[in-house]
Amino acid sequence: MSQYDTPRPESLGDGIHLIPAPLPFKSPPWVNTYAIETDSGLLLIDCGADWPEGRTALSEGFRALGLDEKAVHTILVSHLHPDHVGMADRLREEWGCRVVMHERAEQGRLAKYNDTPGYMAEMRELALRHGAPRPAVELAASAPRPWYMPVIEPPDHVVADGDPIDLGKGRHLLVLHTPGHDDSHICLRDSRTGILFSGDHILPRITPVVPFDSDSVDPLDDYLRSLRRLIDMRIGVTYPAHGSLIARGDERAYQILLHHDRRLLDMTEVVRKEDLSAFEVMLKSFRSDLDGLQIRLALLETIAHLEHLRLQGRIKGVERDGVLVYTR
Ligand SMILES: [Zn+2]
Repeated sequence: MSQYDTPRPESLGDGIHLIPAPLPFKSPPWVNTYAIETDSGLLLIDCGADWPEGRTALSEGFRALGLDEKAVHTILVSHLHPDHVGMADRLREEWGCRVVMHERAEQGRLAKYNDTPGYMAEMRELALRHGAPRPAVELAASAPRPWYMPVIEPPDHVVADGDPIDLGKGRHLLVLHTPGHDDSHICLRDSRTGILFSGDHILPRITPVVPFDSDSVDPLDDYLRSLRRLIDMRIGVTYPAHGSLIARGDERAYQILLHHDRRLLDMTEVVRKEDLSAFEVMLKSFRSDLDGLQIRLALLETIAHLEHLRLQGRIKGVERDGVLVYTR
């Protein structure tokens, strides 16, 4: 499929190895997994969607780099999306390794990940409340569970913000809870090199979707705060989960902050001119030829921005016939 697009595996120095794994969809075309040498074997950050091409790419990647995949003792999951955690159970069984996630995984996030009908029911309710007409609701909230996304068993271990993950010889990965793209999202900072493994929190060129999510009052605020926190930490070299490596993570974080500032300003303008539901604002803010998944993500992203503006008092929300309408 998109395998020919996937870059070659590469040793990046400091005991860090990049093994890209192709994904069963067009965008993003692959996920970057990172194998890190530790005292007792290898630790793998993220593992890709559960499909044969992805599995083969991992095996071939380890082999090409002269590494033994069976030496992986830990899979560290950056967040609960299928392109990052999809293959975790398959590998846990094959390798006998442990799977580590942020503690939010145990506090309802994994249950949500595993419950597609429940998620779709929630989406349906949300889409109706935010003014989507019936056909759009059907399009956005009727998808079956993707075939590359098996149900995932609970993690063997969970980590919280500030936890060090020991790599041996006085080196560790510092866990940074960075909610926004997903409530269980973590970044990891290497104590030896200062390199940040940013998952989907900071990506080159594209900005991660920040979807409205009932597990948080204001997911966009969570996301922007997490970005500012990393800027304050003066992050430099950043290894993202998609795309090419980033030389200046702080500069990229600034660009992403600006992108959201602009979008917030644009949406404020739109709502100041006329009263609109989130669905109507979405139609004005995104291109019109979206498929079901894209409508769902665009609507969730629009709601996240409008709720952020409402909670900041920059716009208001009023209830009209069961639909939340945003107004000046
Ligand atoms: Zn991703």
